[in-house]
Amino acid sequence: MGNVKQVAVLGSTGSIGRQTLEVISAHPKHFGIIGLAAGKNLDLLTRQISQFQPRFVYFQDRKALPADTDYTFLSLEEMASHPEVDIVVMATSGKWGLHPTLAAVKAGKRLALANKESLVMAGEIITTEAKQNRAKILPVDSEHSAIWQCLEGETGKPNKIILTASGGPFYHYSQAKLNKVTVEQALKHPSWRMGKKVTIDSATLMNKGLEVIEAHWLFGFPFEHINVLIHPQSIIHSMVEFGDGSVKAQLGCPDMRLPIQYALSYPERLPNPQLPKLDWESIKELTFAPPDYDSFPCLKLATEAGRRGGTYPAVLCGADEVAVELFLSGGIKFTDIARLVEQALEGHKATSHPTLEEILAADSWGREMVRQLASRDNL
Ligand code: MG
Repeated sequence: MGNVKQVAVLGSTGSIGRQTLEVISAHPKHFGIIGLAAGKNLDLLTRQISQFQPRFVYFQDRKALPADTDYTFLSLEEMASHPEVDIVVMATSGKWGLHPTLAAVKAGKRLALANKESLVMAGEIITTEAKQNRAKILPVDSEHSAIWQCLEGETGKPNKIILTASGGPFYHYSQAKLNKVTVEQALKHPSWRMGKKVTIDSATLMNKGLEVIEAHWLFGFPFEHINVLIHPQSIIHSMVEFGDGSVKAQLGCPDMRLPIQYALSYPERLPNPQLPKLDWESIKELTFAPPDYDSFPCLKLATEAGRRGGTYPAVLCGADEVAVELFLSGGIKFTDIARLVEQALEGHKATSHPTLEEILAADSWGREMVRQLASRDNL
């Protein structure tokens, strides 16, 4: 890689954002920070600004930022499409990633995409715009990074994509036991360090369902050929089966900095002593099992919403986000998350090939539906 690539990190104070900054700090000859954007954590953003001295900054509450500074305030969309930005890292969570993701692909950027919701909700619009404007979407999600790495250099269409899932903290739990799960237990993921929302989504397997939809859009692959496999060790990050029966897998320690770094440095691989390496002598076994769709209905709900398409995935995302918030605040049980999301999906009248406005309206509808259903339950 020749020049220093200028990176804008949108969502710099979240889990992926912080790990992105760690990776960038390890490679000062390759990457520089040109922009930082955050939603809520002003303390951390302020520290990041003084450490990285970005030229562009965004914070949700603009007035809270200090007045006399050396940077320029930009909106998320302006930052994601700015001509001097080489790589956009989209690490914001939820639907907040949607508009800036679209702005980045319209500007033909290299987009390291960690925000699931934008592809899940608006995959059709985003992938069409990316193609038209020659933007390159580089997956940051570990499973999609794995599939991408397995597909590199292959010319034929693969038979099958196999997305691996750790199974989360409640793998093997019965329905009765799942009913009594606490917030604290759900937040303890066995292998990955991640933000709260994605940790709960991993425990319900909603996260894996969203990843099925993400894989469908990223790789232009039909849902029937995307399989999910439980692999509790989280060492194989996903696999691809080809026409001749050969299977390629990507392996590594469960550490998000690896897929983040690959998205930034692609097609090169950069040595990084900070990244953990697999210790083959301590790996005793690699095990696999089919997912339990009855105990973890979110996986099926998400895959089904993806298959039906239109505004269903937006309702799924909105409904799930509110259901997870309600669970985290103690308002509902763990098993209520799937039940409420299912009820919202059942009540929805979908629009096919929706516009961005229709997608956002469906997301809001899903949120409102779950709030209403939950408050009705509590009466
Ligand atoms: Mg993942």
